[in-house]
Amino acid sequence: MDKQYNKIILITAPSGSGKTSIVKHLMKKFPSLAFSVSATTRKPRDDEKDGRDYYFISENDFKEKIHNKEFLEWEMVYEGKYYGTLKSDIERIWKENKVPVLDIDVQGAIHVQQQYPVNTISIFVQAPSVEELKRRLKFRGSETDESLQARVNKSTYEMTFKKHFENIIVNQNFKEACTDAEKIVGNFLNN
Ligand code: 5GP
Repeated sequence: MDKQYNKIILITAPSGSGKTSIVKHLMKKFPSLAFSVSATTRKPRDDEKDGRDYYFISENDFKEKIHNKEFLEWEMVYEGKYYGTLKSDIERIWKENKVPVLDIDVQGAIHVQQQYPVNTISIFVQAPSVEELKRRLKFRGSETDESLQARVNKSTYEMTFKKHFENIIVNQNFKEACTDAEKIVGNFLNN
């Protein structure tokens, strides 16, 4: 059987921890990885593209997909904003003999681990501190005061879940965090 058969890589973290940049780095480094594109009801940011970063869909369409059991997992990650992993996207990636990488919130990652307890690794990316987290979210410029505070509150809560994940990376220094992530993923792909 192929070494990469039905593997899953979960990268999870509180918002603002720099997780998405680490995911992008891993995708460049390992050609056998493919990004699992989630569906969401939030609006695209300026640099985001439909079908590449997310499938940006309406709340009605999202609810229809829930009804049709099209999601491996889904969450209302922020008040009124839904995010979900499509079974069809994971299957598409497996059919290409690649390994899906899920950039997913903490609860979603726990749900996927429960459904796929073998052949799955999880990496929890931790921001160095709440102050640093606030600074990064402000720097991104995509948040209002209210949504920034909501993300900080959620992050603080999500930190309490870190014990559920087998690999923890502290993103103090981006280059070092990428090297740590590379080692973990490299080992997983070779076994
Ligand atoms: P953002 O709005 O910053 O792109 O993402 C907000 C949070 O939702 C991040 O923690 C991101 O990893 C998470 N997220 C993205 N896609 C999914 C998904 O399909 N399912 C779940 N549960 N969380 C997701």
